Amino acid sequence: MSNEVLLQAQDVRQYFTVKKERGQKATLYAVDGVTLSIYKGETFGLVGESGCGKSTLGKTFLRLYPLTGGKIVFDGKDISRLRGKELKEFRCKSQMIFQDPSSCLNPRRKIEVILSEPFIIHGLYNTKEERRRRILELCDMVGLSSAYLERYPHEMSGGQKQRVGIARALALNPQLIICDEPVSALDVSIQAQVINLLEDLQKQLNLTYLFISHNLSVVKHCCQRIGVMYLGKIVELASAERLYQNAMHPYTQALISAIPVIDDGSERPIPQQIVLSGDLPSPTSPPVGCAFHTRCPHAMERCGKERPTLQEVEPGHFVSCFLYEQIP
Ligand code: SF4
Repeated sequence: MSNEVLLQAQDVRQYFTVKKERGQKATLYAVDGVTLSIYKGETFGLVGESGCGKSTLGKTFLRLYPLTGGKIVFDGKDISRLRGKELKEFRCKSQMIFQDPSSCLNPRRKIEVILSEPFIIHGLYNTKEERRRRILELCDMVGLSSAYLERYPHEMSGGQKQRVGIARALALNPQLIICDEPVSALDVSIQAQVINLLEDLQKQLNLTYLFISHNLSVVKHCCQRIGVMYLGKIVELASAERLYQNAMHPYTQALISAIPVIDDGSERPIPQQIVLSGDLPSPTSPPVGCAFHTRCPHAMERCGKERPTLQEVEPGHFVSCFLYEQIP
């Protein structure tokens, strides 16, 4: 990991208008004021419960939606409002690996056709031979036999399909890959293989990853820094090491305390189980004040009225909670 920032998000907001009962409209605050930097060559983990906005934030970074507010700078260039040709060019530099490889591979196309699509869309490798050569190179990189090129997705296992998904993401030589729960749909025995493959590719190609997961024990092993997301906001951000040694936000503490102990137990930093009460509030009507106050075991009167901001409590460790407020 270098000290050079590849992607910088400043107060990024991504809202959607959704229909409620009786045709009424509501605003869904999927991402609500996210500020963070991702360094070149690092794996930045993003964790939180389903529905907290992690995947939407990943797609927002790829500019798959028109940005509601804030700014995204990629490799020194403001990409927040890119359109047309410039947006298409940016999309070569940033790609996504999806959670369920079965749902993102066209079941009616052979693997070779699926892997040639990015070249056709972006007008690369004009002849069939050139495309074939690059496709074989990609298969080799992800450890997929060329025999699979003649198969359809349903003739492959989940792990093989995810390798196709990774090959497709690499096709255009991206700098950033958003890995959206890339192993959660796979058997446990295959998960480690796919994570090892992603790590090897990162070293070979100097890739930068945003690794999205609801599983803190997965990101612990493959990320250098981790951001914890709750209801569209980052509530804690730190190096993986510090987050597990010294989780500060009550939500992070609850997530970590829920990790099952399968080793000797010495790594567990949270002594007692902190159980999350209730469900994640709806992102169409987030609570006033601290978004976590409806479930927080330490909530104070103030927490239901005021919203804490993300503050640096030790070098590189940021927390959004009144318990750690810095008194100026
Ligand atoms: Fe809990 Fe209050 Fe901290 Fe929010 S600000 S996490 S409600 S103590």
